[in-house]
Amino acid sequence: MKKIILKLFVIFISFAATSQKIFDVHLHGDKDPANQMEHLVASGVYKLAISSSWGLQQKYKSNAQLTVIQGLMLPCPEGKVPYSLQFCFENQEDFPDIVWVENLMKDGTIQFIGEILSQYYGISPSDERLFPYYALAEKYDIPVGIHTGLAGPGHGSPNFKVSLGNPILSEDLLQKFPKLKVWIMHAGAPFLEETIAIMKYYPNVYTDISAINNPYIFPQAEFSSILKKFIDAGFEDRLMFGSDNGDIKLAIANIEELPFISSAQKEKIYYRNAEIFFLGKQ
Ligand SMILES: [Zn+2]
Repeated sequence: MKKIILKLFVIFISFAATSQKIFDVHLHGDKDPANQMEHLVASGVYKLAISSSWGLQQKYKSNAQLTVIQGLMLPCPEGKVPYSLQFCFENQEDFPDIVWVENLMKDGTIQFIGEILSQYYGISPSDERLFPYYALAEKYDIPVGIHTGLAGPGHGSPNFKVSLGNPILSEDLLQKFPKLKVWIMHAGAPFLEETIAIMKYYPNVYTDISAINNPYIFPQAEFSSILKKFIDAGFEDRLMFGSDNGDIKLAIANIEELPFISSAQKEKIYYRNAEIFFLGKQ
């Protein structure tokens, strides 16, 4: 009986969470952008940060319920977005033109650089070829999100390497661009000790919890133990919610089921930390 009551309570909490305000910091394109955006709004998303092929990304516009923050995906393996394999840019280049990028920052068209696909491309996130983009992001005070950790099958990037997903590789760029706002995507899992070490030493580094909050990729118990590690390490102000096109309802339920975090901590993860990180709002 106790178990049934507990389960009902969890379902109730998950249902209540659909009215939770959410800033989804990790989203990619979909075949049906309007439907995707409607679904996210129904789950409480009021703001999202998107990166996709440049062409598809243009279909994502802010509306009355949803603010869209545009990123810039790079570098693109063989000119393509992993998985969907659309060309990132019209000219089919791997790296976008730096003057074009600066203009997009100047006029506010893009508000972050990411997802940085260095691991898929087969280079370190601290590779010199990325420095001009980091320098611009630092100059215009916009965040940079770096893909870390692993990847699912079928991404189609021939130079992908597991070792290049280790967040410790971001240390050189953090030292070269000390004012750059950086977030480690996917919490760096399974390189958690390295993510924790980097975040301990570099207070400007945040992380998103996409992929680890997806029960089809990480079992709930594993997600719970990772979150506990981050909370115990003192990072409750630097964790950000991301769905990465996974089932957002399951991702929210995963957070609601965590027994060790308070509702104030949940709010920080759902949107408050991202507001501060992206927009400097308290
Ligand atoms: Zn990623």
